[in-house]
Order: sequence, then C-alpha cells, then structure tokens
Amino acid sequence: MIIDGKKQAEIIRNEIKKEISDLKKKSGKTPSLTVILIGDFAPSLIYVKNKEKSAREVGINSEIIRYPKNVSEKDILEKIEELNKNDEISGILVQLPLPSQISKEKIINAINPSKDVDGFNPINVGNLSSGYDSIVPCTPLGCLLLIKKIESNLAGKHAVIIGRSNLNGKPMAQLLLKEHCTVTIVHSKTNDLQNECLKADILVAAVGVPNLIKKGWVKKNAIVIDVGINKVGEKIVGDVNFDELKDNVKAITPVPGGVGPMTIACLLKNTLTCFKARLT
Ligand code: NAP
Repeated sequence: MIIDGKKQAEIIRNEIKKEISDLKKKSGKTPSLTVILIGDFAPSLIYVKNKEKSAREVGINSEIIRYPKNVSEKDILEKIEELNKNDEISGILVQLPLPSQISKEKIINAINPSKDVDGFNPINVGNLSSGYDSIVPCTPLGCLLLIKKIESNLAGKHAVIIGRSNLNGKPMAQLLLKEHCTVTIVHSKTNDLQNECLKADILVAAVGVPNLIKKGWVKKNAIVIDVGINKVGEKIVGDVNFDELKDNVKAITPVPGGVGPMTIACLLKNTLTCFKARLT
C-alpha cells in the first residue's frame, strides 16, 4: 500500500479550517502565525511561502518578517521578545538554517514555549520526553499520524528510526515510545544497519542519503516512512528505494507526496493548538 500523504494532509487541513471557523464565531479571535526569515536561501524562501499560503487557506493570519543575511542576533532576539509579548500572536517560527552570526540555540530558547509551533524549545522537548503534553515537532508528528492511519494500536511493535537529529529522529523516537513501541535509533556509527532495519515493524528513515534503504533490508509486513528529501539530478528522492520496496512492504510513503505535505499540515495543527491554549 502506498500512503498518500497529500490526501491525509488535505483531510487534516480541512478539519483545522472547520475548527478555526467555529472558534472564530465563538471567540471573535483569529489564530496568527509569524514567521521570521533571515537571508534569501532559496529553499527557505519556498518553504516559508508555502507555510504562509497554507496558513491563510485554513484561516490563520500569517505574516513573514524578513531580515537581511547580516542582521544581528540582538535584533532577532528583540523581535522575538516583542512577538512573545504580543497577545495577538499565537505562533512564532524562525526559519532554519540561520546565518553563522546567529546562535540557533539562543533563538530556539528565546521563543516562548507556548508559541513554539516548531516544538524545538527545550521546554517542549523536555515535556515530550517526559511523556507530558507538549508541542511536537511537525515532521515527526506528521509521520506518527501517517503510521496510525495504517495501524491504530502500535503497542509492542518494533520501531527502528534511522537518524538521531533533534528535528526528526529523537522526537520520532519519543512519540513512538509514547505509543508503547520498542524503539531502536540507528545512526551513522551503527554497526550492521541492514540487520537493525530487518527487525523493524515500523521503519522511519530520516537520514538525507538517497536510496539508502534497499530491498532485502525491510520485512514484508513493515510500515516504511521516508522522511528524506534528496535532490538527485533534477529528481527529488527519499532515503528509501521506493521502487524496490513498494511491492515488498505493508505500507510505504512516496517522496514527494508522503511526509512533506504532512509537515505543513502539522505546523497548522500546532498553531491551532497554541491559539486554543491562549483562549482558555
Ligand atoms: P540530519 O540532522 O543531517 O541528521 C541525519 C541523521 O542521519 C544523523 O543522525 C546521521 O547520523 C544519520 N545518518 C547519516 N548518514 C547515515 C548513514 N549512512 N547511515 C545511518 N545513519 C546515517 O538530518 P535531518 O534534519 O534529521 O533530516 C533528515 C532528512 O529529512 C533530510 O533529507 C532532510 O532534508 C529531510 N527532512 C524532510 C522533512 C519533510 O518534511 N519531509 C523535514 C525535515 C527534514 P549521525 O548522528 O551519526 O551523524
């Protein structure tokens, strides 16, 4: 089975749109998302434009604040502080990567955890790893929603996650632990990657190496989620060799059209969560 991330993302966006419309009628308020974009890195420009467009489509007010590449860290921290204090702002996102004069750690720490729609602030990371309610990073959240569409009860499943980044691998592991999976995280220093992958009932690849996972690396009844986005020539491919695996696993996400659309849908979901928390 091929998991249609575009379709699942559309379903989520429609649910969000309806909920926002109902909440607007009841409260008279509108959720809003502010994105800070520094420099003119082409992929970031595309991501930010897509985020803004998707937010508007579901009824979220969205603003992009742009800065030149040489902006100071102090200016960005002051802007974040201003946005933290502004009750009209539900969510703040600073698009990564950042230029070298700006500390990613300081920026992530400066965003009020209750407005941290990316779920990167250590308070949210800590809440997630403690098993408490938290804002969860968008891509792993999207992966979990896709996995649960295929299998609602994940208790006892062996999940293998390739990659240990703060963005993907680590929060993915926490989410699957919360679902009572047995979780293995593998990375570039892991011995015998193939053998570890063969243990997976659920395999999540968040690596950045094109077609790393091949036929013979995954069990027949496994669910395979491919987070990777890799440019090979003019084509975008994942970390999984889709053509080799698609008829040899239980379910698999394509690239593009799998995890990518879910990431944006989950950003909107997180913005709505932050907005609702402020209403109560
Ligand atoms: P990252 O920070 O570079 O982390 C990659 C991880 O993969 C690291 O833990 C690294 O191990 C591991 N790794 C690298 N080569 C490996 C190998 N040969 N075997 C086993 N493990 C290996 O990347 P990321 O930010 O998590 O992103 C991963 C991929 O997802 C990228 O292609 C990115 O473009 C994509 N992505 C997609 C979305 C989406 O919406 N679909 C969102 C974000 C990212 P070490 O820790 O040992 O170095």
